[in-house]
Amino acid sequence: MKEPPGEFELIARLCGKLPRTRRVILGPGDDCALLAPSPRPQLITVDSMVEGVHFNLQWGTPAMLGARALNVNLSDIAAMGGVPTSCVVNLAVRPGLDAGFFDGLYRGLRKAAAEAAVAVVGGNITRANQLSITITLLGEVETQAMRRDTARPGDKVYVTGNIGDAALGLRILQNKIPAVGSARNQLVKRFLQPRAQVAAGRKLARLQPTPAAIDISDGLWQDLGHILECSGVGARIISTRLPLSAAYRRVYGDDCDLALSGGDDYELLFCLRNEISEAALRRHLGVAVSCIGEITRDKQALLVNSTGNISAVSHRGWDQLRPS
Ligand SMILES: [Mg+2]
Repeated sequence: MKEPPGEFELIARLCGKLPRTRRVILGPGDDCALLAPSPRPQLITVDSMVEGVHFNLQWGTPAMLGARALNVNLSDIAAMGGVPTSCVVNLAVRPGLDAGFFDGLYRGLRKAAAEAAVAVVGGNITRANQLSITITLLGEVETQAMRRDTARPGDKVYVTGNIGDAALGLRILQNKIPAVGSARNQLVKRFLQPRAQVAAGRKLARLQPTPAAIDISDGLWQDLGHILECSGVGARIISTRLPLSAAYRRVYGDDCDLALSGGDDYELLFCLRNEISEAALRRHLGVAVSCIGEITRDKQALLVNSTGNISAVSHRGWDQLRPS
């Protein structure tokens, strides 16, 4: 079995050419990184990706994995409307992976970090039975942070982009759903190579009043549930307004269950007090936006289906994958 490189050899390989920013006084190589202070409120988030839980090495390249590990963290900063600034990386390394694997992983991570103007300022490497990559990402608030607890009855509920593609892509990779051609490629790419909506999040946070927002990592229904619970409100979602991509429809038809329950899209869900047309929002944010429903006073989440039937989801059902 291939052996991973030694800890210090690996650190030396991975620490070359890491993206830096002006805030970095001292990067990797000492006991801590040293960052210049900022007058803005700071955001901090952490997310892990574990082999066998969040990814399978057969599905994509190591570079895709490195970029994805950063993007899932960037998405949390995007959900707050923040600017990502710097990160540290913890790698748990199992036997069977060679230096080329880690070079690829860091190539993807470095590229994604450079594109997002994020400095990689340090990390840790440990031996483990299972491969995992954990990133702690710092960011800062430019104007106001978008929170989960500020949705009010009457707010319109919007999502960016298309939803359900990544969940469908995952099921295609798992051979649970057959698909071929460009639709397959597109859906699989949405799972393997998510792009956090950082720019759109920053622009959203400048709107007044500041929208309530969350990123769709665990599935629309569940993530909307967090907003409803934190804000003490309910919502009415219109299934025919869910933005399903052409690739989604080609492979899965009009069934929106994966768009409601599937995760990994890393789009933004947000609630606006003032009704703004989808076209105007698209121009402002630079991404497609769909109004999918509205926030209600009674603390229920209702789904209106294509025939006008309404089903309710109890608060106990937030962690269920399907509406009851
Ligand atoms: Mg999140």
